Amino acid sequence: MSEKTILVWFRNDLRIHDNEILLEAIRKADKILPVYCFDPFYFTKSSSGEFKTGNFRARFLFESVADLRKNLQEHGAELVIRIGDPAEILPQLCEEYHVNEVYHHREVAYEETSISEQVETALWKIKLNLKHFIGHTLYHKEDLPFPIKDIPDSFVTFKKKIERDSNVRPCIDTPGEIHTPVITDAGELPTLRQLGLTEPADDPRATTKFIGGETEALRQLNYFISNNSAVSAKNGKIDSLFVTSHLSPWISVGCISLRQIYWDVLKNEDNQHNNSPLIVELLWRDYFRFMFKKHGQKFITAKNSNDVSDFAVNQDELFTNWKNGETGTPLIDAIMHELNATGYINNYSRQTTAGYLVNILKVDWTKGAAYFEEKLIDYSPASNWGNWAFIAGIGSDPKDSRYYNTARQTDLETKNSFIDTWLPADKVKSPVNTL
Ligand SMILES: Cc1cc2nc3c(=O)[nH]c(=O)nc-3n(C[C@H](O)[C@H](O)[C@H](O)COP(=O)(O)OP(=O)(O)OC[C@H]3O[C@@H](n4cnc5c(N)ncnc54)[C@H](O)[C@@H]3O)c2cc1C
Repeated sequence: MSEKTILVWFRNDLRIHDNEILLEAIRKADKILPVYCFDPFYFTKSSSGEFKTGNFRARFLFESVADLRKNLQEHGAELVIRIGDPAEILPQLCEEYHVNEVYHHREVAYEETSISEQVETALWKIKLNLKHFIGHTLYHKEDLPFPIKDIPDSFVTFKKKIERDSNVRPCIDTPGEIHTPVITDAGELPTLRQLGLTEPADDPRATTKFIGGETEALRQLNYFISNNSAVSAKNGKIDSLFVTSHLSPWISVGCISLRQIYWDVLKNEDNQHNNSPLIVELLWRDYFRFMFKKHGQKFITAKNSNDVSDFAVNQDELFTNWKNGETGTPLIDAIMHELNATGYINNYSRQTTAGYLVNILKVDWTKGAAYFEEKLIDYSPASNWGNWAFIAGIGSDPKDSRYYNTARQTDLETKNSFIDTWLPADKVKSPVNTL
């Protein structure tokens, strides 16, 4: 009997731990062919003129793929790297390596699912199956206490029901030895220049240096847990303090799984319940993904609650000032300079600048969302477009002029050298009032 080979198509799941497609392929096949495609589509400009991927995120992605290759090599395997359209590359590799089936994780946003569909069609022409797995959320779709079509549109109800009626599955085992076929041309990592980008300059004022890869992700999780529990132990109360984890860039490309974070956080807290502030934040991520699953593109293409005629007549000029940090409102300008110089701003800063663009400047929110898509190092379609739609009062749980609970953000995280440059210290705490 001939050997069975499964191609594992890595996308936003750049890790070895808790990775169902990898472990399942190893169980079902004699050989596995791990592949990552740099799809030039993601390095073009969107219809609004912004790059789909800015250079901070691109560098982070390259580091993550390099780390995946290193980790696979440590398990005896090799990662095949190609630049091109996966709907052309994957069938070619399947023929070359006599692949029997292709595994991947299902996505939810429009562009990602349409790429999967193109790959599925191309594989079907050579009589191969693309098998879909669910692996990006904290709660597995099959374990939700409601069918997708009945998922509550209100986050509060969603959270309450899930916490009451669902459980998070345990992590999947990390594989041991991995067997790949003899690979003649594994392919090199591209350079940023090859994809039309320049090397980003690291700004010394950045509060965190993000280095892509599963190795760094696990290190960051350990760092967060040990620092948080050290301070919590001092304070004697776990919920009294919540310093954010800075894990989002790694979560977005799947260098770490939400389940891994969940179980490690619970293991390290005295409190064995799922009400840790970090776990509630992870639920927001699930919520936006499930909203996309339920509503599809409608979730963000619903008509603005403001009539289009409510947009400022000079919105192009206002938008340019906003993105360049030249609005004249010091806090907004400081945050936009931070975003442009580092690729990362905290949740409070995102809410504040997004709310300002939508509610004060009266600019079409989709321009802001496309700009964040280019700039954010942790860009994730459902989280970015979902949060923007939410702030714009669109989407499934709409309320006009919404700001979240900004009081939660600690002073420590709000103040940084960008804000110090632009804003006197006594103004930092009341940004919304200064708008
Ligand atoms: C306009 C706007 C755009 C955003 N775009 C993105 C994006 O493209 N990618 C992204 O990961 N997050 C996005 N967020 C959510 C949030 O700002 C970031 O996840 C958070 O700042 C990341 O920092 P952290 O890892 O320290 O978060 P923590 O507070 O430590 O939270 C842990 C994790 O929970 C998830 N999370 C927390 N808050 C949210 C939220 N409101 N929505 C969805 N997930 C959440 C993230 O995965 C985060 O890493 C956006 C928020 C706004 C208001």
